[in-house]
Amino acid sequence: MRPTNPRLHIGNYEGALRNWVNLQNQGYEMFCMVADWHALTTMFDDSSTIGANSIEIAKDYIAAGIDPDKSPIFVQSHVKEHAELHVLFSMITPLGWLERTPTYKEKKDEMGSNEREPYGLLGYPVLQTADILLYRPFGVPVGRDQAPHLEIGNDIGARFNRLFNCEVFSEYKYLIPQDETRAKLPGLDMRKMSKSYDNCIYLSDTAEETAAKLKSAYTTPSKIRKTDPGIPEGCAVCQYLKVYSSTWESQWDEDVRGERGCMQNKSECVEAINEYFRPMRERRAQLNDGEVREILRKGAERASAVAAETMTEVRSAMGLLA
Ligand code: ADP
Repeated sequence: MRPTNPRLHIGNYEGALRNWVNLQNQGYEMFCMVADWHALTTMFDDSSTIGANSIEIAKDYIAAGIDPDKSPIFVQSHVKEHAELHVLFSMITPLGWLERTPTYKEKKDEMGSNEREPYGLLGYPVLQTADILLYRPFGVPVGRDQAPHLEIGNDIGARFNRLFNCEVFSEYKYLIPQDETRAKLPGLDMRKMSKSYDNCIYLSDTAEETAAKLKSAYTTPSKIRKTDPGIPEGCAVCQYLKVYSSTWESQWDEDVRGERGCMQNKSECVEAINEYFRPMRERRAQLNDGEVREILRKGAERASAVAAETMTEVRSAMGLLA
């Protein structure tokens, strides 16, 4: 996750973080990074909050159930091997692969002119590949939008092996939630939930903030009275009910049949979301910055030990002087 903001939204949680916690609890060794260098691709002219944001993002990881004793939590810039592997990968990655990535095209257009577009934006998937392959993982748990980047990562790993006639890297899996709603959670306006659209419910929102946001959430536009039929597939509130309410099937049925109104959906949705996130919000409130800094320091040490081993093999495969 990039610390472009001090808080993660529930789309980040559903697409990625929920899976991280599940995998950790199934016994997988998880490396949980705060991608501060990646934040710079879009925040290079306003970077002063990145450090403080990094601590807050780590709090969200811990609040969601990442146990730092089991799973190292660390900040990307604290593990210098990420920069080294990025440089080496940048030497073997064809430009065409990067120019074709959908996120690059999108962000480039947002920036307006290529005078403003930083070199690092184009190289984003190369750095991300270094982040991943340093730990030679079985899988990478992310939301649907990350799939094109992950594809490039496997291609870079395979190209490295081919070029240097070695087997340092093996293919990793993309662990994207099976449920499409979770893989790409809609925002309050039914576009993808994203901090840049200002349509988010944050993991650390208070119960009151959550209620206020849901009040103005997008519902079926043609459902004006309770008796009008709803279309739950296109209604943000119904989508959240599907994720957070154990009785969503009957709620959807009643919505379709015009037996319940949007107000009732909203109030039950507020209940369900607040109920689900209450323990995380409470846990988060108890974490202090000093304690989190120490967790990040220890996490970086553990991550570095693994990353250093990979780098020894990488340098040797390439024939660099040891
Ligand atoms: P960045 O800030 O690095 O672009 P994002 O905040 O977009 O990253 O996403 C961080 C993680 O959360 C990624 O794994 C991404 O796939 C996931 N994610 C982001 N938005 C959503 C969403 N609306 N639904 C599901 N997963 C999401």
